[in-house]
Amino acid sequence: MRDILPPDSERWRRFVSVFAGVVEGAGYGQVISPLLEDLGVFQRIGDATDVVTKEMYDFVDKGGRHIALRPELTASVCRAFVQHRPLTPWKVWYTGSQFRYEKPQRGRFRQFDQVGIEVLGVEDPHLDVEVIALAWEFYRALGLGQVTLLLNSLGEPDDRARYVTALQAYFEANRKELTPESQVTLDKNPLRVLDSKRPADAALVAAAPRIAEFYSAHAAAHFEGVQAGLAALNIPFTIDDRLVRGLDYYRHTTFEFQGGTLDSAQNALGGGGRYDGLVESLGGPPTHGVGFALGLDRTLLACDDEGVFAVEPLHLDAFVVDTTGGLEALRLTAEIRAAGLTADRAYENRSMKAQMKVADRSGAACAVIIGSNEMAEDAVTVRPLRTDEGQQLIARSTLIDYLKKARS
Ligand code: AMP
Repeated sequence: MRDILPPDSERWRRFVSVFAGVVEGAGYGQVISPLLEDLGVFQRIGDATDVVTKEMYDFVDKGGRHIALRPELTASVCRAFVQHRPLTPWKVWYTGSQFRYEKPQRGRFRQFDQVGIEVLGVEDPHLDVEVIALAWEFYRALGLGQVTLLLNSLGEPDDRARYVTALQAYFEANRKELTPESQVTLDKNPLRVLDSKRPADAALVAAAPRIAEFYSAHAAAHFEGVQAGLAALNIPFTIDDRLVRGLDYYRHTTFEFQGGTLDSAQNALGGGGRYDGLVESLGGPPTHGVGFALGLDRTLLACDDEGVFAVEPLHLDAFVVDTTGGLEALRLTAEIRAAGLTADRAYENRSMKAQMKVADRSGAACAVIIGSNEMAEDAVTVRPLRTDEGQQLIARSTLIDYLKKARS
């Protein structure tokens, strides 16, 4: 787990604020849910997923409850829906840390952040399109150009069940050719064998039966509706019928966004889909659901690779240098900040030279210097730090106007 220090932390916050701008503009409100849930909430995600079986940070608390740090937020949002029963469509967005006990590496951490949206209560395929389009718009807003969209449909629960039976028969017949890990997965959930990224499984996975052969008329129509909507918005996509995604609750549409610059094991920037049965399995009424989660850490790595959405240095309007003891710096910074501008200062009454060194490092637009001469004349010296302009002595009463003009 990592510490995120300035200026990276500022970039994180900007990332979330760009995301909030995009989704709030489409009517989504923020939901803030607890970091911990009853373990059972996450067990509903499915007992054949690594996220639940191997990667959960779960423990018994002092009251004897078996709880877990959240590994994702969709289950928490659905639990909140069941608990509070808001009106539908319920359109929410979220941000925050998730916890998975994975092997840490570039783009894979044990505590990582996501932003995401979920919509509960609507079956319309146009909603799937809206959800995908918002992620697409967000990537554009960050400046990312090398993101590709993979799309699939897992059909309705019955289609999926028939498909799983066919897959099971196929993989069982070829069991010996699967890697030992995939043989274990096969016993738990044959669908997840398709998720295997192990080269030794690749040939068998490639020749496996295809989900499209099992779609009901309703599932096929829903999927066509999604594709037509994406085409209407000029959002390019590739159908990948091996895209089953890690979590077991998906129905109908599933999708994933991949970054063109990242290693294939960690190139999933985000993904999501429909999970029409999840609310029910948490004790709520039958409710349609669709959403996505985008990984903040990995998306920022993709931004680094593409040279977009760069870290911005801190911008201060002024850095106050006071050689008269420090009380004037106290007054001036307070005055500048109260005027809605930004200011920092030096401390400990150090020499002019030492204070100017800190001023240079601060990234401020100008140093506001006050020494005994300035005090005597009720003035300050302003010295631009980011241009070659010379310094000038100005009346103290005009400082705020000067700084405001310098900003614009
Ligand atoms: P998931 O909830 O597994 O669909 O993940 C959604 C997104 O979260 C992924 O596409 C990644 O960008 C990100 N993500 C998932 N697991 C990790 C992790 N261990 N470290 C960093 N990012 C992650």
